[in-house]
Amino acid sequence: MMAKKKRIVIALGGNALGNTLSEQMAAVKITAKAIVDLIQEDCEVVVVHGNGPQVGMINNAMAALTRENAAQPNTPLSVCVAMSQAYIGYDLQNALREELYNRNIKDMPVATMITQVRVEKEDPAFQNPSKPIGHFMTQEEARFAEENYGYVTKEDAGRGYRRVVASPKPAEIVEIGAIRALLESGQLVIACGGGGIPVTLEGNHLRGASAVIDKDFASCLLAEQLDADFLIILTAVEKVAINFGKPEEKWLNDLNCSDAKKYIAEGHFAPGSMLPKVEAAVRFAESKPGRTALITLLEKAKEGILGNTGTHIHQ
Ligand code: ADP
Ligand code: MG
Repeated sequence: MMAKKKRIVIALGGNALGNTLSEQMAAVKITAKAIVDLIQEDCEVVVVHGNGPQVGMINNAMAALTRENAAQPNTPLSVCVAMSQAYIGYDLQNALREELYNRNIKDMPVATMITQVRVEKEDPAFQNPSKPIGHFMTQEEARFAEENYGYVTKEDAGRGYRRVVASPKPAEIVEIGAIRALLESGQLVIACGGGGIPVTLEGNHLRGASAVIDKDFASCLLAEQLDADFLIILTAVEKVAINFGKPEEKWLNDLNCSDAKKYIAEGHFAPGSMLPKVEAAVRFAESKPGRTALITLLEKAKEGILGNTGTHIHQ
């Protein structure tokens, strides 16, 4: 009997995509190699990616369009997230297809699912927009954007003003059935890009929300819903540390959920960077026996899944 394939949800961080169009074009080639490595280790893979720089770039470009042409209304953030899914999905699926062909795997179609993720209207994050996106503005520009586009802006550490948006928790992946069907027919799926297009439910209508969902939490929910064996969060560090950046810094190979929670409470993980990853990892590992999360470098994904590096989070 053939062994059951391991099912993996991979969350790609910013370093997997770069900051500009040309950086992204180059970065996805390296990213595709890491992903196809896992496919050759006999894994079923679903790919999630972040969109911080890209959604900021698209948001700025669309705001410039409105400034140039008064007949063009401002573009909602939910539409900017949708645009970022299509743009990043295009580069990723192109690079993945090429890498699969280079290794003579010609029977695995690659597809990007435009994914809506429902959030709760009552999510407290809407009362406290905290995630900065896009470019820095002067005070006058910030005031103009608040009055004309309904932005919330905040002064950012003496460097100027930036738009801040809500980051609510993902409650439901609307297209989960389609993602599952593609996966189970042997396709390589890119889904929940940028954490998903945030929507709230109003009757039968899904209304775009002005928010950006954290991709680490969205990939955790996706991994749970697909009954994955592994959630792999690929980022810019090989392992998770306690006392990060201090002389007593200690890199962790192995982390159980109760220690992880203790370290979270002690403040070892920076909010907005490592904290959501560890929280997502713990949530996934606790959701069912046998589920493991792995946090490591993009280039070490294969070594990580073989148990040779990275931080493994388990019950
Ligand atoms: P991504 O784009 O992959 O989401 P982030 O920059 O948001 O990446 O988060 C990864 C970063 O978190 C690392 O590059 C590291 O600088 C930082 N970090 C903060 N606390 C820790 C910690 N305790 N251990 C390891 N890295 C940490
Ligand atoms: Mg991040």
